[in-house]
Amino acid sequence: MQVIRSIPQMLAVQYTPAAQVGFVPTMGYLHDGHLSLVDAARRDCDVVVVSIFVNPAQFGPSEDLQSYPRDMDRDLSLLQKHHVDYAFLPDAEDMYPEGYATWVEVSGLSDLLCGASRPNHFKGVCTVVLKLINIVHPHCMYMGEKDFQQYFILRKMAEDLNLNLRVLSCPIIREEDGLAKSSRNSYLDSQQRQQASCLYQALRNSRQMVKAGECDAAKIIAAAEAILISNNAKVDYIQIVNSTNLMPVDSIDENSRMLIAAWIGKPRLIDNMLLKA
Ligand code: AMP
Repeated sequence: MQVIRSIPQMLAVQYTPAAQVGFVPTMGYLHDGHLSLVDAARRDCDVVVVSIFVNPAQFGPSEDLQSYPRDMDRDLSLLQKHHVDYAFLPDAEDMYPEGYATWVEVSGLSDLLCGASRPNHFKGVCTVVLKLINIVHPHCMYMGEKDFQQYFILRKMAEDLNLNLRVLSCPIIREEDGLAKSSRNSYLDSQQRQQASCLYQALRNSRQMVKAGECDAAKIIAAAEAILISNNAKVDYIQIVNSTNLMPVDSIDENSRMLIAAWIGKPRLIDNMLLKA
């Protein structure tokens, strides 16, 4: 595995002609969720590139940029074990030099759901991912369904900007009790860690209600909210949307997906599930 820290060096990489290049953008502190994307890229592509970059532009002023967990040595050894060809680790100063002024925004979609409580978050995500795509030149980019809105927005960006790129999604990887794996789970103390599986419980309960014949989105959301509140979670949002356009729905069909964001103490967790699978 080649470890590349400089943008000009990554730009200069000459892939074998006709090689399919798979790309996995991450913020590091890798877990099995990230590694499932790496494995999917390894399975499908000739060359696998993984970036690790904690992107300052997607953190709000009162968010956890400084404390975001980092362990580069461990990350690099995991990537090596998963047969990655290139680990790209750019510096923030090189990605956003003084005078940096260009931003990418997918309007509308970026204000919904997580965008409502994290203004500018998706602008930061789209900007960094487009920059990384321009540096890495992949044919396929692998994203986790865990961040469903992010995947949806980046797919839209790729389509709108005619990027010659397939944006692929991979299933959510979970802990044994259902909690979606996340670098931010490391913030949870042992009591919060126990409570944190309530997001998954609320999603599972919603899916069961649908299986039992409930179609009314408002009733399903109310039941999910009760589960979160009884576990001391502070709800940011619980919404049921159409997976094909992210618009809220009143009545459940095959495309209905519940998305949840909630604080368990200080850490804010997100999760989602298709309700009629
Ligand atoms: P992050 O490092 O949090 O920016 O995540 C990098 C990529 O890994 C994103 O595409 C995430 O959606 C994906 N990812 C994070 N957690 C999981 C998970 N539990 N299962 C599947 N993919 C995940």
